[in-house]
Amino acid sequence: MSLLTVGSVAFDAIETPFGKTDKIIGGAGTYISIASSFFTKPVRVVAVVGDDFPKEYIKTLEDQGVDTEGLQIKENEKTFFWAGKYHNDMNSRDTLVTELNVLENFDPIVPASYQGSEYIMLGNLSPQVQSTVIERLTQKPKLIVMDTMNFWMDIAFDDLMKTISMVDLLSINDEEARQLSGEYSLRKAAKKIMAMGPKYLIIKKGEHGALLFHKDEVFSAPALPLEEVFDPTGAGDTFAGGFIGYLAKTDDISFENMKKAVIYGSALASFCVEKFGTERLLEITDADVQTRVKEFHKLTAFDTTL
Ligand code: AMP
Repeated sequence: MSLLTVGSVAFDAIETPFGKTDKIIGGAGTYISIASSFFTKPVRVVAVVGDDFPKEYIKTLEDQGVDTEGLQIKENEKTFFWAGKYHNDMNSRDTLVTELNVLENFDPIVPASYQGSEYIMLGNLSPQVQSTVIERLTQKPKLIVMDTMNFWMDIAFDDLMKTISMVDLLSINDEEARQLSGEYSLRKAAKKIMAMGPKYLIIKKGEHGALLFHKDEVFSAPALPLEEVFDPTGAGDTFAGGFIGYLAKTDDISFENMKKAVIYGSALASFCVEKFGTERLLEITDADVQTRVKEFHKLTAFDTTL
């Protein structure tokens, strides 16, 4: 089934205890589209970059199966730039720079050829841009998934609440779920957030996995304990891309199938963190993904007989 995503396509500069990068390709839209391309092609991307964005980066996305018709290139403007530095435990990071540049006045144009997309992934971006994309869809999609971050809770709360009320599933991390709901218990937080509109909620817990909520049900997915984590940047977006990519491929939005999608998303995210930026995602194969999903299964499977 067809999948449309909107999200930042960016230059990132990353610093971790293991090293530092210059400006490399990043952005939520980049990670989402690469991750979902493991399951469904072409992935339709709505995004904007400046004319400083290298053509070979666009080719990298296209080679991966990303349809870039909806990627606008703005002359004489600069690409969104984000820089972050991770602390020693790799679970927390400081944002050093956020230069919105082309994102400041981004008008998300949905090409006619993208209309009819059944699965929509709204990557981390201003909630106003996210809701504009929904409003510009001429046909009702099967599933709209939205990712966001505390940045937007702080500066665009009302827009955020409006967009949240328009989506089927919200994906956020534990800290953000607590901030959004004012509840410490994630179970209580989930109830409050689902009352804001989304029927489903995913709470990402970094190296501790993810929780999927729907009505009174909850599914817990582990994260694979890895020997080495080099760079967690994009793990959340990769998770979301893998999750919706799997749903689009199987075209089944039952809670049971969403559990599998959470594991596929987690498997892809576990690769993402093994190298800097998108490097690892660009070298793995479908067979690698399948092997890792089996590792996830083995990690938590046990016999319940007395
Ligand atoms: P994650 O590690 O999953 O939170 O995502 C990191 C990616 O989000 C980086 O590649 C950044 O380029 C992108 N990013 C960071 N802040 C923003 C923002 N305010 N708007 C859009 N994208 C952002």
